[in-house]
Amino acid sequence: MTKTDKTAPHLAAGPTRTVRLAGRDGEEHIFTGYALGVATSRAEQHTHSTRYAAPGDKCSACRWFSVGIYRVFDEPETSDGRPKPRGYVVQTVGESVVPGEQRLARVQETASAYEVLELLTVRRRNAEPFITPQSLRALAQAANLDDGVRDAYVNRAVV
Ligand SMILES: [Zn+2]
Repeated sequence: MTKTDKTAPHLAAGPTRTVRLAGRDGEEHIFTGYALGVATSRAEQHTHSTRYAAPGDKCSACRWFSVGIYRVFDEPETSDGRPKPRGYVVQTVGESVVPGEQRLARVQETASAYEVLELLTVRRRNAEPFITPQSLRALAQAANLDDGVRDAYVNRAVV
């Protein structure tokens, strides 16, 4: 049996199916839906000759950020058997292969496409809010597939 990495975003939008994502502390989120957009900063090549990047050193083969935006549906309730759209799921993962460092995953659901933008907006003290390049890329993919995300993406205040 193949072991799958449940923190890796599912690739490519497809037909509605059961999606399993690992959230905070490995808690599993299971829903019916499909991916609207996924992106990662993961790199193949390390930027250092040591085995792992030193603390504070930037190496996207050691530490990376992944994001996935999903459309989520209620289980079929109607006689036509088609699932009913419920909203969106956003998964963000700060990944690290450096021993002693932890994976930080978060899975959040919202009914609002505008809140998808908010969930992907990074707010730090004494800094302008921003959206990471990976999140913008996933949002652009999602905007192509979903009218609600497209409206929120085009009208976003944070660039
Ligand atoms: Zn590295």
